Amino acid sequence: MKAWILERQARIENKPIRLEEIPTPEPSDGEIRIKVHACGICRTDIHVAEGDLPLKKSPLILGHEVVGIVDKVGKDVTSFQLGDRAGVAWLNHACGECEFCLSGMENLCTGASFTGWDADGGYAEYTVLDGDFAYHVPDHLAFEELAPLLCPGIAGYRSLKLTETKKGQKVGLYGFGPTASCVLQVAKHSGLEVFVVTRSQKNRDAARELGADWIGTYEDNPPTPFDAGIIFPPAGNLVEFALSQLKGNGRLILAPVYMTPIEINDYNNIWLERSVKSLAHISRQDGREFLQIAGEIHLKTQIEVFPFDQLADILPLVKGGKVEGNAVIKIV
Ligand SMILES: [Zn+2]
Ligand SMILES: [Zn+2]
Repeated sequence: MKAWILERQARIENKPIRLEEIPTPEPSDGEIRIKVHACGICRTDIHVAEGDLPLKKSPLILGHEVVGIVDKVGKDVTSFQLGDRAGVAWLNHACGECEFCLSGMENLCTGASFTGWDADGGYAEYTVLDGDFAYHVPDHLAFEELAPLLCPGIAGYRSLKLTETKKGQKVGLYGFGPTASCVLQVAKHSGLEVFVVTRSQKNRDAARELGADWIGTYEDNPPTPFDAGIIFPPAGNLVEFALSQLKGNGRLILAPVYMTPIEINDYNNIWLERSVKSLAHISRQDGREFLQIAGEIHLKTQIEVFPFDQLADILPLVKGGKVEGNAVIKIV
């Protein structure tokens, strides 16, 4: 099969990945093989390629927003059949035995492995994984539309769950990119009032179109305090600001993987049992719940689709913020 291989980390502009012909993987017992149709590009791919995250195996195939069709099924697989549509996300495997796995928090599994980091991912014609860690995906969404749901989509959904907000409550979204746009649609579907705070006029227009109840900039005063908030940009200086806009007992969720330093200077802004929690990884339960809702509400994503053989040229564009919405590589 054809696959993009990373052997040594380097700046993405120097094209550390190359397209090669390698043996097509065979599924072991319990595994399925997926003929990959599309794979979304995530910034984490760039962090692994450039060395911000350590290289755990070499050669490595990146990519953890994978969708395609099951074309081979290993012994003892009961969850998938030949010809099923299937998706693969960041959590590639969890141990099932640690304190977190045993208490329904496999996203924090201490023995977890991740797609496109510990295990080969989706920038290839085929990928194999444990059938229990693949997802059934909605039938009526195109593969290119589904790909970004597997990472920003599921992660955004988990951040919304962590707010513990209920129907009728108010949630503030700080920053409005592709992840926040998924969160807004699910939040509206759940009956929440959604307040979007973002600088860019274009993003404010996008939020309005998707049904935000209030949209403002960081200089505007929201009409009411929120029950919870979610910060999407990796800007630590937003934390105290966002806390100050929450009610007592308000929960503030930090969605980014990295964040600039956080300082809380005025204790009044976190007083009244307000709390801050980071989001880390996803569980299969998050993925299943979110994909079901995404199918029901026909969740809209903004995508830009590129051909498979151009991946090395597209990654620098994604790094430089030159792609609108989610970049998706079409393989078939
Ligand atoms: Zn990702
Ligand atoms: Zn575990």
